[in-house]
Amino acid sequence: MSNLRLLQTTTPHIALIPSAGIGHLIPYLRLAETLALEKCIVTIITPKPTVSFAESNLISRFLSTHPDMKQLEFQILPPSQSNSTTNDPFFLQYDAVNRSAHLLGPLLSSVSPPLSAIVSDLLVSTSLVSIVADLNLPNYILATTSARFLSLMVYLPTLLAEPNTKFGGDSDSVTVPGLASIPQSSIPPPFANPNHLFTELIRSNSRMIPQAKGVLVNTFDLFEPETLSALNSGSVLTSLPPFIPIGPLVPYESEDCLSLIWLDEQPEGSVVYVAFGSRTTMSKDQIRELGEGLEKSGYRFFWVIKGSIVDKDDKGDIGEVVGKLYAERNKNKAMMIKEWVNQEKVLAHPAIGGFVNHCGWNSVTEAALHGIPMLAWPLHGDQRVNAEVVEKAGLGIWERGWGWNGEKLVKAEEIGKKVKEIMSNAKGNIADKNDEEEIGAVLGKSYMGRNKKKAM
Ligand code: UDP
Ligand code: UDP
Repeated sequence: MSNLRLLQTTTPHIALIPSAGIGHLIPYLRLAETLALEKCIVTIITPKPTVSFAESNLISRFLSTHPDMKQLEFQILPPSQSNSTTNDPFFLQYDAVNRSAHLLGPLLSSVSPPLSAIVSDLLVSTSLVSIVADLNLPNYILATTSARFLSLMVYLPTLLAEPNTKFGGDSDSVTVPGLASIPQSSIPPPFANPNHLFTELIRSNSRMIPQAKGVLVNTFDLFEPETLSALNSGSVLTSLPPFIPIGPLVPYESEDCLSLIWLDEQPEGSVVYVAFGSRTTMSKDQIRELGEGLEKSGYRFFWVIKGSIVDKDDKGDIGEVVGKLYAERNKNKAMMIKEWVNQEKVLAHPAIGGFVNHCGWNSVTEAALHGIPMLAWPLHGDQRVNAEVVEKAGLGIWERGWGWNGEKLVKAEEIGKKVKEIMSNAKGNIADKNDEEEIGAVLGKSYMGRNKKKAM
């Protein structure tokens, strides 16, 4: 039976296969809920064990609030303890998931009713090619980064095969056909080493993109029009499947443990939200400068502080990280927290006027969804390329001189100045600028359109 007939005659059953880390999990959970609302049967295949508590907590909370969702755990091979090019636990886990992906075959063929399609992370593409061919299933990739960084990944195997390519070399920029050139300073440092685990994982899996039925991208036309058109017109590579913008993915229903009472008491648009995602920490010195910078800005702030890359290692209270005197001094004008917060709910709160963040792509799309201006402080990986997108779309400002994480100590003075700049553009003021087509306002319309069936 052809897949088309299967879709016409039975309820579609879609398997979703995320990779490791919160940034690769949340978009899959959002898509899962969207598909279920469209009357699909959804099975989420989650790698086990996870690196962080946050991932396992999120999965169990999602399943408890979505009892119709099916889950299969996928026992992965033990990650290497280290690799000569990195000891980042998330990179090592991407690698372990990738090395275990051949075990997915029996799992996928055993589910009932039989599957209609698979949506999987780019980082398991290589192993899935032969599995989906055997099962005669269409495979879609859900990309968890910007279309711009995705284009760089698509083109990475070609770039690395060219003898003249130099990442981190003397040339000013890297050319991906059809795209505005990418400054060398935005290229993730691991790409300069073709043997780096991160480079190798992207290179090997990106080669398989042409075999996918389509690539779902958590972006939208207004945000990245030229890039989407370059990908879809054959400018980047001629053999690509369609790249379908489905973003910004809508946050799913969830029970909330964190109280937002403090925010409820703050005036509209008065608070700057400061958070750098689920796996990024700063040095002690940088945390101190950031803290002082926030004080100097004079604005109220809601600061999520991470003391370690993996939450399982995060010990000690706020006072130990920022200093007891600092915490005491700021207790009336700031909320500082070291636990998981429901970020999307924070960003949706009317008190939030600006967002200092690392440009993890999920954070960017959440800010875009709520029209919150950003101070981009990209620190790793795809984040500088994502910051270019933010800046170009008029959604935020970016101080390029601040460098990658740890490259230099960004001083409190500078941070305070930039926070003031972004907050002077905060929500209340944006609402007055009717003649400028603010992306948040435009987004609001498409968001409402997409949700008109499930929301009033
Ligand atoms: N997040 C959250 N609470 C936290 C930390 C993170 O809800 O305390 C969510 C955030 O809203 C986003 C995701 O986790 O959806 C982080 O993904 P992103 O791509 O922004 O950054 P990464 O964590 O991958 O660096
Ligand atoms: N890192 C991160 N988020 C990312 C990429 C990296 O938090 O998306 C952290 C990670 O802890 C790693 C460090 O940044 O150890 C340096 O990352 P880099 O990409 O330079 O690779 P590595 O140092 O592992 O070679």
